[in-house]
Amino acid sequence: MTPAPPRTRPLAEHDRPEFDPIPEWSGVTTSLIHGARRPERNAGAVVPPIYQTSTFQYPEAFSDAGPGGKVYHYTRVGNPSHEVPAELVRRLEGAEGARVFASGMGAISATLLTFLSAGDEVVALEDLYGGTIEILTDLLPRLGIRVRWVRADAAGEPEKVIGSATRAVVLESPTNPLLRVIDLKRWTEAADRAGALTIVDNTFATPVNQRPLALRADLVVHSGTKYMGGHADLMAGLVAGPERLLERIDATHRVVGAVLDPFAAFLLARGLRTLGLRMARHNENGRAVSAAAEGHRNVVHVNYPGSGSDEDERVAARQMTGRGGIVSIEVRGGLAGAERFLRNLEIIEVAPSLGGVESLASLPVQTSHRYLAPSERAARGIGDGLVRLSLGIEEPEDLVRDVRQALDGL
Ligand SMILES: *Cc1c(COP(=O)(O)O)cnc(C)c1O
Repeated sequence: MTPAPPRTRPLAEHDRPEFDPIPEWSGVTTSLIHGARRPERNAGAVVPPIYQTSTFQYPEAFSDAGPGGKVYHYTRVGNPSHEVPAELVRRLEGAEGARVFASGMGAISATLLTFLSAGDEVVALEDLYGGTIEILTDLLPRLGIRVRWVRADAAGEPEKVIGSATRAVVLESPTNPLLRVIDLKRWTEAADRAGALTIVDNTFATPVNQRPLALRADLVVHSGTKYMGGHADLMAGLVAGPERLLERIDATHRVVGAVLDPFAAFLLARGLRTLGLRMARHNENGRAVSAAAEGHRNVVHVNYPGSGSDEDERVAARQMTGRGGIVSIEVRGGLAGAERFLRNLEIIEVAPSLGGVESLASLPVQTSHRYLAPSERAARGIGDGLVRLSLGIEEPEDLVRDVRQALDGL
């Protein structure tokens, strides 16, 4: 009798493949284009294929499958399509490793749930993304985790708020919607001394403009939905940092299940290839529009990274290589003025979110900060006339013209 054929192909073909090395001297865009190649595994395809599958054949040795195993097993635990955008972001952030998630909130919640336990304290900036604030105010306290809030204008002395009970520090810079710059190095040093983890949400800056790990942050989290995807057509999240921490997050991620769909992973990798080019234009457009709005008769105040104070400018110059494409403008006439400004816009679209190729405008009073009492908003410097602009990659002169005519018409 002839023996039964093996159930699957030999194990070696299933082994999780490495990516081809690229020269160390590769720049940002070169790395994004060539940094996740493994064509010999993919029929020579220059563009990595989408592994649109939920499950994988078991190898002959079952022990090689599953979490931490050598082979793919089930997409909630791992899929080759996830590894392409993760590898690109790993390189860009200068990290040992990176992981992808179904959304920025999936990445942030899995990270916080991994490292925090009952009795721990978190120190968090008041100006964090709204979803992160909700986790910190609604979910974590139910699990016995305390949060100590820090106002951005009091963020200059982290030593005073980080204590022996502090397990983690959660930061964002530049902040939303006032674009204040937080001295990340000063915070990571204070957190290190207290033995606390520093988690930095780098969504606004992107690693093209700012690399928190080089400033000694422990973990960087991202909404990949924004600049990294870059085209407002997908949801994704990322975490980058040392493998010893990522492996602990993997255990949470597997069961929390915020898993990126393989097709979205493909789109994310496609968006990432042009991140360097796009950020150069976003930076240019942020500079041009903030300069054009500054001093306009219908503008009360312009917020742009580095514009808050001399100290803001010093820190921004030190830790950022570009200032990004988000600008917020307080227009005359309060909420009515801001609503009129939005109606006057001809190119810039009125929508929440940020980081896409198209310019968008929204009112923090109606979006990110709608749950705060007006007095709380005022105390934080968020006026009713504040408009947040996410400048896309259109020609700078067109955006300047659109913003100018909308301001003229107030
Ligand atoms: C959008 C955003 C998030 C949340 O990401 P999702 O992809 O929407 O879940 C987190 N942080 C910042 C700074 C964001 O802008």
